[in-house]
Amino acid sequence: MTSTRRNRLIVVSNRLPFALSHSPDGSPSVRPGSGGLVTALLPVLRNRGGTWLGWPGTSEEIPRLRTAVARASRDLGCTFVPITISRSEYEQYYLGYSNESIWPLFHDLPSQCRFDPPYWQAYGEVNRRFAEQTARIASPDDFIWVHDYQLMMVGAELRRLGRFQTLAFFLHIPFPAPDIFMKLPERLTLLRGLLEFDLLGFQTQRDRRNFIQCVRQLIRGTKVRAVGSLHRVWLDEREVHLGAFPISIDYAWFSRRASERDTRREAAKIRQNLAGRHIILGVDRLDTTKGIPHRLEAFHRFLIQHPEIHGKVNLIQVVVPSRTGIPTYDALKEEIERLVGRINGEFTRCGWVPVHYMFRGLPATDLLAYYRASHAALVTPLKDGMNLVAKEYCTCNEKARGVLILSQFAGVSAELGRQSLVVNPNDVQQTADAIWQAITMPEDERHERMRRMRRVIRTHDIFWWVDSFMRAAIDRQLHDFPVLDDYIPELEDTGNDAWGGISPDQFGPVPEMSER
Ligand code: UDP
Repeated sequence: MTSTRRNRLIVVSNRLPFALSHSPDGSPSVRPGSGGLVTALLPVLRNRGGTWLGWPGTSEEIPRLRTAVARASRDLGCTFVPITISRSEYEQYYLGYSNESIWPLFHDLPSQCRFDPPYWQAYGEVNRRFAEQTARIASPDDFIWVHDYQLMMVGAELRRLGRFQTLAFFLHIPFPAPDIFMKLPERLTLLRGLLEFDLLGFQTQRDRRNFIQCVRQLIRGTKVRAVGSLHRVWLDEREVHLGAFPISIDYAWFSRRASERDTRREAAKIRQNLAGRHIILGVDRLDTTKGIPHRLEAFHRFLIQHPEIHGKVNLIQVVVPSRTGIPTYDALKEEIERLVGRINGEFTRCGWVPVHYMFRGLPATDLLAYYRASHAALVTPLKDGMNLVAKEYCTCNEKARGVLILSQFAGVSAELGRQSLVVNPNDVQQTADAIWQAITMPEDERHERMRRMRRVIRTHDIFWWVDSFMRAAIDRQLHDFPVLDDYIPELEDTGNDAWGGISPDQFGPVPEMSER
C-alpha cells in the first residue's frame, strides 16, 4: 500500500512534537517533545500518512534543517511541516498573547493577565501564517484538526482563504465562565473566530457550557440545541457542533512500559531507598495554575499536625521547567524553592529529608518508576483542562494500591472524581486531611478505588478520544485512516529551502521539553 494524499489527518498545533537544536558537532539534533498534546497525537498520526504543522520549538537557524526534519519525520512516522516564528513573534504571540493573556484568563486567574494590543496583533499574524501554510498543503478531502489556545483564529483565516474542508478545533485548556471571558478585549472577534470551525471540542461539559453561555451573551440571535451528545449552534446560516471529549493517554503503552524490567528495577530502588516511608508524588510543569505552593503549604500543615508520621513520609515533587522568561513563572520557581527550603529546614533530621524536590524533566523510565512506586499522588491544580499526570499515575500503578488526591478543578475530576480523594486546592486544611486519609486508607479500599479508575482510563484511552472526536467531526474513526505498512514520510515542499530565510540573530531560546 502506498501513501495517499486523500483523506489525510492534518494536525495543526503551536509546537511540532520535537525540538531541534545544535549538537556539539554543529549538526542539527532532534529531541522528542513531551506534554499532553504530543502524548495524545503521535500514536494517531504515526504511519497513517498524517501531517503535522507547527513550530519546531527553536528559533535558531540550523544548517541542514530540512534533512533534520525529514529524519524526524521518518523516525516518528509522519510528515512534519515546520512553521517559522521569529524572536519577536515568540515574545508577543507566544509568551505574550497566548501565555500572558489567554492562559491565565482561561484558568480563572484574570489578575495575572496582561492585555497588550501588540500581543493581539502578533497573535493574528502568526495565526494567519499557520492558516496559509495549512491551505498550501491541504487537499479538499483532508480533515484539518487545529489544536489549542494559541491557534484559535486559524479557522477564521482558513475560511478567509476560501478553504472549506472540515475544520475542527480542540481546546486543551478550560473555557472560562462568561464573567471571566468578558474581560478579554478581543472577546467578540475571538468567539466569532472559533465559530468558523465546524466542530469545537472541549475537555468537559463545564467548558462546553461556559462557551455556549458566552455565545448567548455576546452574539444575538444564536440558536443552540442539544442533539444526542453534541450541541448545535446556528448563526449566520452556519451550523457549528460542540462537544465534550475528555482527552486521555495511551493506556496500553503506559501500562506496558510501567511493568517492564527497567521500570520495575527503578521503582524497587526508590522503594528501597525510602523503605518504611509513605511516598507521596507530585509531578507538574512549572505553572501558576498547578497549585504547587498550595500543595506545599498543605504538606507543611500535615507535618505540623501529625508529628507521629515524621520520618515515615516523603513528598517527591517534580517540577518540569516551563515558559522561562515570563516573570510570574520565574517568581513561582522562587516561591516553590522557598517553601521547600522552609519545610526541609523545619523538619529535616538525621536520615530524613521530608521533601525531595527535582526541578527538571525526568526520563520516561524514572517518571514511570515514581508513578509505580508512590503510595499516593497529589494532583491539585487550581484549574486544569484535563491533567494527564493523574491518568498516567493510575495507569502505571499496576498493583492498584495508590491513592489519587485530586483537585475538583482539574478536568479529570469529571471522570476520576468519584474514586479519588477530591479536594479544593485552595483549602489547605482539606488537602492536609486528604494526605492523612490517603496514607491511612485500608488496603482493600485503595485497591478497589484504583481498580475502578484504571478501568475508566483503559476504556476511555487516547484512541477512544480520537475516535469520538472524529466521529463527531466527520463521521469516521481511526480505522478509516489505516496504518500504512510501507509508509515513508516525506517533508512537504513548502517552497522554503532554508529555515524561512530568517537570520540567526532573529532566533530565541530552545523552549523546555514540556512547554505547551
Ligand atoms: N512529563 C514529562 N516529563 C516529566 C514529567 C512529566 O514529559 O519529567 C509529561 C507527563 O508525562 C504528562 C505531561 O508532561 O504527559 C503533563 O501533562 P498534563 O496534562 O498533566 O499537564 P500540562 O503540562 O499539559 O499542563
